[in-house]
Amino acid sequence: MKYTSTRSKIQPINSAEAILQGLAADGGLFVPEKIPKVSLEEINELTNKTYEQRAAWLLGKFLTDYTEDELGECAELAYNWFDITSRVPTAILIQDPKNPVAPVGSMELWHGPTSAFKDVALQMLPHLMRMALKKVGETKEILILVATSGDTGKAALAGFADVPQTKVMVFYPDGGVSKIQRLQMVTQRGKNVNVTAVRGNFDDAQNGVKKIFNDKKIRDELAKLNVKLSSANSINWGRLVPQIVYYFSGYIEFVKAEQVKLGEKIIISVPTGNFGNILAAYYAMKMGLPVKKIICASNINNVLTEFFATGTYNRARKFFKTITPSMDILISSNLERLLYHESDGNYKLVNRYMNELNTLGKYKVDKKLKARLDKIFYAEYVTEDETREFIKRIYDSFSYLIDTHTAVSICALSKYRGKTRDFTPILSAATASPYKFTSAVLTALGQSVEGVDDFAQLKMLNDLTNVNIPRNLSELSTAKVLHEDICDKDEMADRVLKFAAE
Ligand SMILES: *Cc1c(COP(=O)(O)O)cnc(C)c1O
Repeated sequence: MKYTSTRSKIQPINSAEAILQGLAADGGLFVPEKIPKVSLEEINELTNKTYEQRAAWLLGKFLTDYTEDELGECAELAYNWFDITSRVPTAILIQDPKNPVAPVGSMELWHGPTSAFKDVALQMLPHLMRMALKKVGETKEILILVATSGDTGKAALAGFADVPQTKVMVFYPDGGVSKIQRLQMVTQRGKNVNVTAVRGNFDDAQNGVKKIFNDKKIRDELAKLNVKLSSANSINWGRLVPQIVYYFSGYIEFVKAEQVKLGEKIIISVPTGNFGNILAAYYAMKMGLPVKKIICASNINNVLTEFFATGTYNRARKFFKTITPSMDILISSNLERLLYHESDGNYKLVNRYMNELNTLGKYKVDKKLKARLDKIFYAEYVTEDETREFIKRIYDSFSYLIDTHTAVSICALSKYRGKTRDFTPILSAATASPYKFTSAVLTALGQSVEGVDDFAQLKMLNDLTNVNIPRNLSELSTAKVLHEDICDKDEMADRVLKFAAE
């Protein structure tokens, strides 16, 4: 299996190179030349396998330059943290007793070290990278640079900690992340990790990192230290492909739980931001997973809802800060891959749309492409009030506690059922533990959090619901702070060089 770019005809490359490069030289994203097929029989054969075995087998369909053993090792190392009772996916059934033919399975993807679904990919990526280095004969150390507004930083630290031939360095805005988010990062253990606060806001941290990436002098100095910069952002193919696995695994668990028969089509609902998670569902469908429709659930930053309704993607709009911050995005980068595949690899067309997005702030897909997207996707957005209402409603009806992002997905699928009267079984992605967004969840349940500090809120939600606090969060109040460095934004490059030399 070779990889090409969404924006021009390039010499196709292996997956190891695609994972190391991240972004194609023409600015496009790497895509597989063909989407591999999986038969129902093969899906059935995965039934009695562990999650790790399912992952290794499915990854092998895309990463053909990795051996079976290598992928098995990646999966074991990536997923050894799932405790046995809370493996991905825990398909918890939310079923209306009055309508027993319409199950909704909640795929809890957040049982990793940071309690959010990005762990599933970020625990795998470092191992894929490490092996890729070996494959292409790269002897330099890779230094992953991350600017974070909170959650991605910790997930990257947890993923790369102590992975050979890699280092990871995270910059966060001083005072710009929550107390818990900060503690998650500054207590990170590992010989190859660095966490530094930047005096400024998130944009300052992000611009600082971008500048370092574009600075040839710094790259040259790093090369002398035998270090090469890289990023772990969500457009990297190595972050996408591990996400395909849980849709297959979720379907298999749904069949095992006798909610659907093998071969029967389901609907998948995904709370969407950068379009990575939902694109993985699309790949699963194209590979042969029986999927009838994919629901794209958004918050009031509803650029995708409008896109799927009208065919016009228009990023020029008001930006809202919401209680689902991981979906507060106006440019959903991974959508580019969908446009490429659904236009049958028409890179000229994709290139044109991306240019228009850059220069005009919008593009409109042609009728043919629009019609193809309509067949696969249904898009819906959810207001802040509706999000809170659904947290309360799902908790009151099913004693099931969900976070704000998960609530957006469940509210959107409920709107879909209301409008279409289509009661096909649905798998809904649960992307974060309710304890990651405690204050919004408490508010939704009618509690006042005014003046209550982060840790007291965890306890408050636990007292109210009896739902366990994930250990990685409850342990934070006593964990040792290991990273106290702080710098100005024009000192970031020096900090990078210093850490690279360690
Ligand atoms: C990142 C994130 C999302 C959005 O996923 P995308 O792949 O960016 O579409 C949804 N929920 C949570 C909790 C997230 O962290």
